[in-house]
Amino acid sequence: MKITAPRESHPGENRAPLTPDAVAKLVKLGAQVEVEAGLGLAAGFPDEAYVKAGATLSTDHNELLITGDIVLRLRKPTLAEIDKLKPGAIHASLLDPFNEKELVQKFAEKGVSAISMEFIPRTTRAQKMDVLSSQANLGGYEAVILAARYSNKIFPMMTTAAGTILPAKVFIIGVGVAGLQAIATAKRLGAKVTAYDTRPVVEEQVKSLGAQFLKIDIGETGQTKDGYAKALTEEQIQKQREAMKKTCADSDVVISAAQVFGRKAPVLVTTEMLNALRPGAVVVDLAVETGGNVEGVVYDQVTDRNGVKIVGIANLPGRVPLHASQVYAANLVALVEEFWDKKEKTFVLKLDDEIIKGCLVTHGGKVVNEKLLPKTS
Ligand code: NAD
Repeated sequence: MKITAPRESHPGENRAPLTPDAVAKLVKLGAQVEVEAGLGLAAGFPDEAYVKAGATLSTDHNELLITGDIVLRLRKPTLAEIDKLKPGAIHASLLDPFNEKELVQKFAEKGVSAISMEFIPRTTRAQKMDVLSSQANLGGYEAVILAARYSNKIFPMMTTAAGTILPAKVFIIGVGVAGLQAIATAKRLGAKVTAYDTRPVVEEQVKSLGAQFLKIDIGETGQTKDGYAKALTEEQIQKQREAMKKTCADSDVVISAAQVFGRKAPVLVTTEMLNALRPGAVVVDLAVETGGNVEGVVYDQVTDRNGVKIVGIANLPGRVPLHASQVYAANLVALVEEFWDKKEKTFVLKLDDEIIKGCLVTHGGKVVNEKLLPKTS
């Protein structure tokens, strides 16, 4: 079976779907691996390392799409790229399938079995394939590093002959994978951290990291079976904003990472709240790619609003591309290994397996994922 990895074409994307270590694992399974020349260069992996790991190199992007039995990528392909795939091939990457209906349809028309890495179920067995977690974790780290870079303060407390410097106050909104890593990173830098999330189970996790949990009573919240937050009503969001106002105003850094799976991010930090921040404060919006938690955030820009820096830089995991590629590639390899028949040296698409059922979006010429099919009541 031939596994190919074409280069990413999204502007500014430095991550790669496969690393040399990942290639070595796939070769060990008995797969023939071909990667596009320059695949990992921006992430810090030279072509020679891929060859040493057992891959062949190709300079022909289209050839990799045309000949792959399994095509492994990071970002979604273009419609023209899908056209090049062979019927019956497997294509695994992030696909943004809720918003990319035309793309999903095209995969179906081509008879390609498309796997959406966002749809890997959140089960213990699938944890090692969970790209949302592996990337969000690095995003949370990078958000704190950016905040520290743009802040006019240092994070730790320092007692010096010239007096005492108090620790920076960091407020984290949304404590999923990214938020938890943001808390841990800010704590390591010595900041005083407060955090809030609508899911009640989070309070314990926040406290175990040595941060304070902001308690807000907004009524019934809860989470889905996959651990995602349920969307709030407009009234609940209004209550939340009111309750967060004081903590925001008292913070040197606000990091917002609140998301509701498959939906636009809720707007939680309003203009009024931004106006209450001290000049020199920094707000990092980790939800900028799904619409933003911060009112007026500009996609992929850092803006200055009356001395308050609003950081809307996109693709934070892509700013640490070596480690982001390492963990993304490990997620892909775990998926291939899980369904690899060692004797036949092929990937077996087990249609009744819970993981495949969760992440397969098209197969046999049809859209097959229940999350994308019209609801039957
Ligand atoms: P996410 O990226 O969808 O959302 C980030 C956070 O925003 C969540 O914690 C959510 O509760 C929070 N949020 C939503 N609306 C909010 C609001 N109005 N105000 C404040 N916060 C709000 O979530 P995620 O980071 O992908 O993961 C969510 C949970 O799933 C985490 O607890 C994580 O540990 C768990 N998880 C489990 C597995 C597994 O079991 N295999 C794998 C990954 C994640």
